[in-house]
Amino acid sequence: MREASRAGLISYVPSFYDFANVCQSLSQTQSRLQMAEEVGTFLASLNIDEAEIAARFMVGRAVEQGEEKRLQISGRAVWKIAAEMTDSADQGEDIFTAAEDFGEAIEMTLKLRAADPEPTLTIRELNQKFAEIAAIEGRHARNRKLDALRELFARASAFEGKYIAKILIGEMRHGVSEGLMLEAIARMSARPVTEVRRIHMLEADLGRVVRIIRSPAGAEKPAAGESSPTSPAAKPLKPMLAFPVADIAEAFATLGSELSFEHKLDGARVQIHHAGDGDVRIFSRRLNEITESIPDVVEVVSRIGARHAILDGEVIGVDASGRPAAFQDLMRRFGRTRDVEKARAEQPLRLFVFDVLALDGALTIDRPWADRISMLEELQSSAGLEIVERIIKPNLAAAEKFYADAVVAGYEGVMAKSLASAYTPGARGRGWLKIKHTRTLDLVIVAAEWGYGRRHGWLSNYHLAARDRNGGFAMLGKTFKGLSDEQFRAMTERLLALKTEESHGVVTVRPEVVVEVAYNDIQRSPNYDAGMALRFARIVRIRDDKSPEQADSIDTVTADYERQKILPSARKV
Ligand code: AMP
Repeated sequence: MREASRAGLISYVPSFYDFANVCQSLSQTQSRLQMAEEVGTFLASLNIDEAEIAARFMVGRAVEQGEEKRLQISGRAVWKIAAEMTDSADQGEDIFTAAEDFGEAIEMTLKLRAADPEPTLTIRELNQKFAEIAAIEGRHARNRKLDALRELFARASAFEGKYIAKILIGEMRHGVSEGLMLEAIARMSARPVTEVRRIHMLEADLGRVVRIIRSPAGAEKPAAGESSPTSPAAKPLKPMLAFPVADIAEAFATLGSELSFEHKLDGARVQIHHAGDGDVRIFSRRLNEITESIPDVVEVVSRIGARHAILDGEVIGVDASGRPAAFQDLMRRFGRTRDVEKARAEQPLRLFVFDVLALDGALTIDRPWADRISMLEELQSSAGLEIVERIIKPNLAAAEKFYADAVVAGYEGVMAKSLASAYTPGARGRGWLKIKHTRTLDLVIVAAEWGYGRRHGWLSNYHLAARDRNGGFAMLGKTFKGLSDEQFRAMTERLLALKTEESHGVVTVRPEVVVEVAYNDIQRSPNYDAGMALRFARIVRIRDDKSPEQADSIDTVTADYERQKILPSARKV
């Protein structure tokens, strides 16, 4: 063991330095196969605890999925600490220009110390440190978090610091996406990749996937609540995603005539775990627990009584007369822990259930949609839950009318679902199609430009990117349209906290903010990595309910582009 011998130790201690070395070597590897092999071999050389942590770290996650919010360490804070330690704040511009990425900038900064500490951190210790930082709450939490981080960097060698920084800001830049990690886990365990993917569908967290795969048969089962789907300890499943299509005819062309159409509500996704008699946990689309914030929804779900169930649905805000409220007002209730009762009075919520993932103790995700519809209807009549309005097996004309009526009634569009389809957690399968009145894409802001004129002092021209196939982001266009002055101000602050570098008036940020962007056309363009550009892009909504992994991919954009070539009249904007 390289580091163990270097530090003069006899026994094997997996070091973080080894982890960093593997990452470094991955960044120089082109072949996907070889990368999966390297990662798999490394994970196999670790014990189960370390492999669980390393899988997470390697895709740029410092803590378990769902815990990210508690960490609250920005790139700016990391840079400030490194700069303070080396008295080099005034050299920031030069360092960031010379460095290839944020991690390297931190490494270069830490190298300015009089002596580089011996690398002694273990993978477990680092994990422990991140968990401690995430757990700091209450008075002066921010300063206490920064103190803990300062201590950590003081112990780290510059090379370790580089990878600590990369993990903290979630940008590894070595091309290990979630998909590649699943292949690596399959290699580590000599198990079929389909099996690993299946476990990942049920477990949102890659580290948990490693743990389950590596555990002696049965010891760690069930995945995501298989035997006891609604026990309080059960983890949420990743939500199933929908694939966009242009119109009703395309839905029939894709799914055939064995399908249902239902209203697409413009609210926020929730996953409800009901373990019986008031034992309810509710998770957001990003799998954060929000039970405390929405007691009104808890009350509604409690009508299920003693039965166990996991439900998928949409919560909308309504005004005093029952009309849908603005999305931003709805989002203000999610995640709120103070003055919940006051917020409840100001912004009432309504729950619409649209799927059943488990019922009476058994997972139902593999049952065909037609069966799950019957379960929904049964829950509607037995517990009075409101379910989304739908039509089953309509002909083309009836489906067109359902869509037209939905748009007139103010819905965002309709969803088409194959009656035979299973519920595929986390996957954008072809079982669910979304047909929206306006063509939009969910894109990630990767950089922003300082505005001028009326927008002086604000970051306002946003660089928009879709997910690429390597776990990175490919830019497709820019826009400064769509936000109010107040939103510009808030967005400027938010992006500055995510800043990784700045040059020539362009601030590069960690890819965290998702925005829904409407556009008129997609054109071929040599100007952007994606080879395509959006015309007349404008932000229609800030999607705080979506994580960057849930943003649209280049494949979706390409499909939209191809469709627009074939069906120019299908464009809805
Ligand atoms: P989008 O947010 O545009 O990707 O569309 C998918 C989202 O629509 C889902 O994540 C749900 O939050 C929401 N949605 C609204 N109504 C439905 C429905 N009837 N079935 C499934 N998802 C729905």
